[in-house]
Amino acid sequence: MLDVVDVGKRSLANYRGVAPDWQLDEVQHLAERLRGARCMHLNATSYGGGVSEILRSLVPLYNDLGITTDWKLIHGDEAFFQVTKRIHNGLQGAPGELTEKDKAIYLANAQLNASRLISDSEDYDFIFVHDPQPAVLAAMSSLRDSRWIWRCHIDTSHPNPSYWDFLSPYLRAYDAAVFTLDDFIPPGLPIQDVHVYAPCIDPLSPKNHPLPEALAKDVLEWIGIRTHRPLVTQVGRFDRWKDPLGVVRAYQRVRPHVPDLQLALVGSLALDDPEGWDVYEEVRAVTAGDSLIHVLTNLVGVGNVEVNALQSFSNVVIQKSIREGFGLVVSEATWKGTPVIGGRVGGIPLQLPEGVGGVLVDTIEECAEQLLRLLRQPEEARLLGGRGREHVRENFLMPRLLRDHLLLLDHLATVRPLPAREIIPAAFAPAALQGV
Ligand code: UDP
Repeated sequence: MLDVVDVGKRSLANYRGVAPDWQLDEVQHLAERLRGARCMHLNATSYGGGVSEILRSLVPLYNDLGITTDWKLIHGDEAFFQVTKRIHNGLQGAPGELTEKDKAIYLANAQLNASRLISDSEDYDFIFVHDPQPAVLAAMSSLRDSRWIWRCHIDTSHPNPSYWDFLSPYLRAYDAAVFTLDDFIPPGLPIQDVHVYAPCIDPLSPKNHPLPEALAKDVLEWIGIRTHRPLVTQVGRFDRWKDPLGVVRAYQRVRPHVPDLQLALVGSLALDDPEGWDVYEEVRAVTAGDSLIHVLTNLVGVGNVEVNALQSFSNVVIQKSIREGFGLVVSEATWKGTPVIGGRVGGIPLQLPEGVGGVLVDTIEECAEQLLRLLRQPEEARLLGGRGREHVRENFLMPRLLRDHLLLLDHLATVRPLPAREIIPAAFAPAALQGV
């Protein structure tokens, strides 16, 4: 059996008044056509990155709409996740070569997970497989009645051929693929039915829910932040593509001009990301002894509410990535009205159009310059942040993502109709749907 993630319940009706009405109306309309269908989302971890963040909100909303949905996890040991991290990096263009031993580790693990998947023996109409870690499962599974969708969240625009040539033949087994940007569709993708839409944040999750100022300050003081001093924050896995060392260098350039400026670097250490420990140690080494730099992790209890407080009450948030799939953290911060300095890569420019939400930078020097400027011009920073919140409301809240998912499922159900037995009469629709 694969592990099932327990996600609790959510109701789409609660998003009325927060997300645009037209999105909620369209979700309701589409859901009526899909009610009774069964769906699974499969990935490698239940915490620590954007995919798990999204699924935790999306899966209960599917269920609320009458599409019975499970979120399952593949199993893997450290050797497997070392290999999948190399594949992740290679697909994002990192140099290196996948060895025969790496391939053997990856495929042996996939066989094991494929047999666990079959032993679950549920007949899912749709199976979403997220990212490269479980990507070969479609080819290895005998669950051929399902419609298989590969949701790739990373930048695969220029994959290293050593990794791509190995993985791509297995992708033929998919009915459809989803990428965040057109640019990310890799050359020679063997899947014909390709869709493009961006991820979203959940405005009602503990991470994004409005926090009373007094509580937020308390939370920040609790984790060592001095709330009377200015603060700049980056939240992201300890991953070289997120460039935490570049953030430290930009901060150090600004510090002589703003001597009491604090930096919070928040990173989670996830099971499927063994490289995170090395990057964490590097960050610790360059920041040791500086009491104004706070290096915080999930291991010391910095979770959703703490991240919420940091994103809400930082003067500026940085996301200085040098490769990025989307970067949920950008929308999380701008939704809270906090301006963001973002690397001009991947999905970040989608979230920070000219004059909205923040500014884009290409170098450490530019990042430092913009940080100093925004700290010195708080009114402009506030205006940028405010415009960012509206941009997120229109484009990057959970109902919009749900709508894109349902459009895709509806399309796949048109290409290959669902078994009639699975349609539940409208009278039995979940109560939550009635209010939407
Ligand atoms: N995150 C968190 N704590 C951390 C690091 C990250 O809660 O220490 C969350 C962050 O708030 C966001 C997600 O993990 O919701 C990261 O998503 P993003 O798209 O920014 O990056 P990814 O990890 O998927 O590359």
